[in-house]
Order: sequence, then C-alpha cells, then structure tokens
Amino acid sequence: MSAGNNSYDKGNRFNTYNTKEAKELQVGFVGNPNSGKTTLFNAYTGAQLKVANWPGVTVEKKEGAFKYHNHIYKLVDLPGIYSLTSYTIEEKVSRQYILSDEVDVIVDVADASNLERNLYLTLQLIEMGKPVVLALNMMDIIEERGMEIDLHRLPEILEIPVIPVSARKKTGLDILMHTVSHHKGVLPNPHVVVYSDLIEDKIIKIEERLKARDPDIYNPRFYAIKLLENDLDIMENCPVDVSDIVDRSYETDIINQKYDFIEELIEEVLVNKQEKAMLTDKVDRILTHKVFGIPIFLGIMGLVFLLTFTLGDGIKGVFEGWLESFSEGAADALLAINAGPILTSLIVDGIIAG
Ligand code: GDP
Ligand code: MG
Repeated sequence: MSAGNNSYDKGNRFNTYNTKEAKELQVGFVGNPNSGKTTLFNAYTGAQLKVANWPGVTVEKKEGAFKYHNHIYKLVDLPGIYSLTSYTIEEKVSRQYILSDEVDVIVDVADASNLERNLYLTLQLIEMGKPVVLALNMMDIIEERGMEIDLHRLPEILEIPVIPVSARKKTGLDILMHTVSHHKGVLPNPHVVVYSDLIEDKIIKIEERLKARDPDIYNPRFYAIKLLENDLDIMENCPVDVSDIVDRSYETDIINQKYDFIEELIEEVLVNKQEKAMLTDKVDRILTHKVFGIPIFLGIMGLVFLLTFTLGDGIKGVFEGWLESFSEGAADALLAINAGPILTSLIVDGIIAG
C-alpha cells in the first residue's frame, strides 16, 4: 500500500484480477533523462522492484512486475538517453536491450512540455522497428500552461499509439498499459521520416546489399541508416562491404533532417503554444533585450541599493526598538522568577541579542 496522500493504490488496483493463465509481457521504459520514467515505473510497480546492474557494466537495471487484467507486466526502467548511437554506455545498454528478444513493447516516455527534444528519440525508436507506444508524460504541465497538443494528428504522423499521461497525477496509466497489451508484435513504419534523395538512394543500396547477404535480415533500413552515420558498433559487425556507398559520415545530415521533420510536426500538433504559457518568456524578452536589458538591470540594482538604505534603515530602527523592549521584558520576567545573573545574561545578552 502506498503511504501518505497518494490516492493511487497500486497494491489493489492492479492485482484484482486473478485469472488462471495470465499472459506475460516484457515492457521497456525508454526516454530522455527526467522525462518521468522512474516516476511512471514506480506508479505501476510500487515497492515491488528489483535493482541490479546490466551485465558487465555499472549501469543500474531496475525491474518490477505487476498483474493487471489478464496480463503480467514485467517492466524494465532503462537509463535516460537522448539518442540511440553507441557513444555512451547507457545508449549501448539501451540499444542492445531494445534490439534483443527480451522485450515485447517499448514505452517511450516523453516529456510533453519538451516535445521537440523528446521526439528526437521517438523517431529513432520508430526506426529501430520494435513495437513502440509513446507515453506523452507531464500532461498536467501542458494543461497548466494552457498548451494543447493535437492528440489525433500526432499519432497519425508518427503511426504509433500516443497516450497522454501524468505520472505525477497518475492519470492515463490504465489506458497506457491497455494499449501496450494490444501492441505486442505491432511493428512501426520505419519510413515515417523520409530523408533527402541522396540519403534515401544510399539507404536503398545498402539495404539491397544486406538483403543479398541475409534475405531474412530484420529491419535493414535501421542498419543502413546506422552505417551512414558511421556507427562504430554496427560498422564492426557489418557482414558486407559498403565503403563505396558510405563515402563519408552522413550523421549530421541525418540528425538535421530528423529535426526538420520534428519542426514541421510541432507546427502541426502544438496548438496554443504561446498562450498563457509564456509569461516568463515575455518577462525574459524584456529583461534580456539588446538595448534595454542593461539599463533595466542597472535600474533594478539601483532600486535595491536605494531601498536597502532608506527603507532598510527605517525597518532597522523599528526592529531595534522591538528587540530592546523584548529584552527588557525578558529581563524583568527572569528577575521575577529569581533567575541568577548568569542565566539572565545568557538569555538576554546572549540568545536574544544574538
Ligand atoms: P526519469 O529521469 O525519466 O526517471 O525521471 P523521473 O521519474 O526521475 O522524473 C523527473 C522529474 O519529473 C521528477 O521531479 C518528477 O517528480 C517529475 N515528474 C515526473 N512525471 C511527472 C508528471 O507527470 N508531471 C509533473 N509535473 N512532473 C513529473
Ligand atoms: Mg530515472
């Protein structure tokens, strides 16, 4: 049972159904650092979790399980990552896990209030070709800011389910797992992002070469893109020579074209982004203005200075008066109860004055 004012009772909520033959589902939580993976993970699993390290590395692996309706959900909380390259150990661990048979459905936990940054990882997950569901977290913040996200258009563009949730307010949790339970084996469309002709031509050529070598290769588009990015891990394990096609690293081009895609997508799905929201932005714009910024800064500092010496002096005087009468009162009271001079001095000159 959860403690405190936490109204979401995991203990009961997800363990009510006790069917004979529950299906098991392996679910991986992937997302940027601070997107709310752990909060979401804890909301489902409560205190029942196992913490270990990923094999061979000191990256924490958090696992938990719960039963809901006819399923046993086995959750894994993956380390926070921005990308699925092989530059950091966290990225490598995540990538290996996603590509392994260990996982049935990926839950991409994204901070909806930072959609642009978070969707970059989403696009990479879609390209990896595993079943993926987008959990649009922090929806409470979106509402608070008066922003709106077009929840019809977003899944239409990404071609994956998009479920709005708030891990903190515990909203959308049931529907998210419901969606996950129906998403096993449902593969995303790896062609959601279409690159420039130059890159697409190269992808097709690499794909052909990979398929000639291994007709059953799983998602050759992903490997082709990684080869064009000069991904070390993938290059080392590449069974064919593609050096004539991959004449240089196309990593920057691929990154930029993904962000171009996201920019257009945001234009389409983020409604009311200016509203209310950006009171702080407006203040920022004034305070950091090219011309007025410095004069405003000096003005504020001058005002603080002035207030310190005018208003401050007045307040100081009043306060000193209060303190004096308080000390006198305390001294009288101590005298009345026959406290010794040392104790009186300690309290009046030491503690009160101090
Ligand atoms: P992780 O790095 O992805 O595991 O993210 P955490 O679960 O540690 O969450 C990062 C911060 O976001 C914490 O301060 C959470 O309390 C906060 N947070 C997580 N989910 C939500 C949410 O739905 N709404 C709000 N307002 N804050 C959230
Ligand atoms: Mg975490």
